[in-house]
Amino acid sequence: MTPPSAVAIAALKSAAGVGCWTDDPAEIAPWLTEWRNRWQGHTPLMLTPHSTEQIARIVRVCAEHRVAITPQGGDTGLVGGQIPYGEVLLSTRKLRAVRDVTPLDDAMTVEAGVSLLEAQQAAAGAGRLFPLSLAAEGTATIGGVVSTNAGGTAVLRYGMMRDLVLGLEAVLPNGEVFHGLKRLRKDNTGYDLKQLLIGAEGTLGIVTAATLKLFPVMRSRATAVVGLDSAAAAIDLLARAKAETGGGVEAFELMKRIGMEFVLKHIPGAREPLDSTPPWYALVELVSGEPGAAEAGLERLLAGAFDSGLITDAAIAQNEAQRAAFWKVREEQSAAQKPEGGGWKHDVSVPVSRIAEFLEEATTAVERFCPGARVSAFGHVGDGNMHYDVLCPAGGDRPAFLARWAEGSRIVHDIVARYDGSISAEHGLGRLKTEEARRYKSPVEIATMQAVRAALDPLRIMNPGVLF
Ligand SMILES: Cc1cc2nc3c(=O)[nH]c(=O)nc-3n(C[C@H](O)[C@H](O)[C@H](O)COP(=O)(O)OP(=O)(O)OC[C@H]3O[C@@H](n4cnc5c(N)ncnc54)[C@H](O)[C@@H]3O)c2cc1C
Repeated sequence: MTPPSAVAIAALKSAAGVGCWTDDPAEIAPWLTEWRNRWQGHTPLMLTPHSTEQIARIVRVCAEHRVAITPQGGDTGLVGGQIPYGEVLLSTRKLRAVRDVTPLDDAMTVEAGVSLLEAQQAAAGAGRLFPLSLAAEGTATIGGVVSTNAGGTAVLRYGMMRDLVLGLEAVLPNGEVFHGLKRLRKDNTGYDLKQLLIGAEGTLGIVTAATLKLFPVMRSRATAVVGLDSAAAAIDLLARAKAETGGGVEAFELMKRIGMEFVLKHIPGAREPLDSTPPWYALVELVSGEPGAAEAGLERLLAGAFDSGLITDAAIAQNEAQRAAFWKVREEQSAAQKPEGGGWKHDVSVPVSRIAEFLEEATTAVERFCPGARVSAFGHVGDGNMHYDVLCPAGGDRPAFLARWAEGSRIVHDIVARYDGSISAEHGLGRLKTEEARRYKSPVEIATMQAVRAALDPLRIMNPGVLF
């Protein structure tokens, strides 16, 4: 797409209005890169509207002048989908209102620029739970988590954003507003249009508000870190925990010893959670609506697992500070890799029953391809989702290692595909993985996605560098 003309830029400034645009490179610069410093974009204009009507006006001008738009929320995305490469940047950060919280409907409506943490707090203020939780929640926005179908740590019990959205409001690529902020659990009236926008990564419109599902606040919660001899033992423990608690497992996260060592070495304040140093760890969190039941359930589960030799060590959090310390060693796994030189990152999923087998096969293949490579696999194993990261051999040539990323990833992704898995379990395809995904999606899937996109955005002005 050609760069916007001076006439188009002037029309966009006028549509946005005073104080809602900037073309000052210094003001725009922080929003042209992201957390991993992997993308460095450029744009002639950043728009910062604060209402749906303003966004509709802006998008109509874009359609009229064929100007491409990249929507951006909190800029915490990990696949570069929020970074413009010549498109105008439309930030939703100023859409800040919590429009309503209705406990009787177990629903609340918040605008796109509200952070995930603020949304959780609004729900808590009304005595309800909004369960989506992830390490970037202080910055990630509701528009972003909707548009990436974000997951996080409680998917096992509550699902991903696709399961947590009741209704959406969005500006479509022709500038019309889709008013779909329903609070209904049941609405069987044809295609579910909100589901098209969830996970669309800004390619089908701009989400301006969402009505979210709320849940009861749990009366008890218990958290443990356990030591295990193998990933297979973790999967057995997960199955046992699910069966024993009747749906009470809220989080089940797997970590490898090497990842724990990186955290202990590089993250200030991180402490060994166990007295021993097992090859694998699981962070297990149980909840219950009954006071004391989660604690009792966790003790029973771990005692049984010890007796049958499933786990080798365990520590139960005795207070909120200890629980936070347990979560810290999990949540800092990714950050702790940076000082080790970073690595080839993979955000993959396979059926839970095949995780251990997948980890073994992928690690053997990666080590054959790159002797000495350090595999730090961790993540939401309860959902079959692993961050399968491969780090440079200790003392190795980092630039030469990183130059082999695409080749190394191909090995991992081909194995994922053979296990009927997904090469992007949570972060989306963005700019990073769209081309790679062509290899794994069927021609029918790609053609159908392209047909949907062409129907809604025939000019392809919405995030044109992302998805098919
Ligand atoms: C430390 C860390 C931990 C993370 N952990 C997780 C995790 O556990 N699970 C998980 O799923 N993700 C995780 N992420 C990824 C990231 O937080 C999510 O992708 C998040 O949903 C992005 O929200 P955002 O507001 O920052 O969106 P951005 O990064 O700004 O945008 C992401 C994508 O959504 C589009 N977009 C943003 N807002 C809108 C809108 N209003 N309308 C239309 N399109 C829009 C953008 O164009 C882009 O394609 C993590 C990221 C970090 C840095």
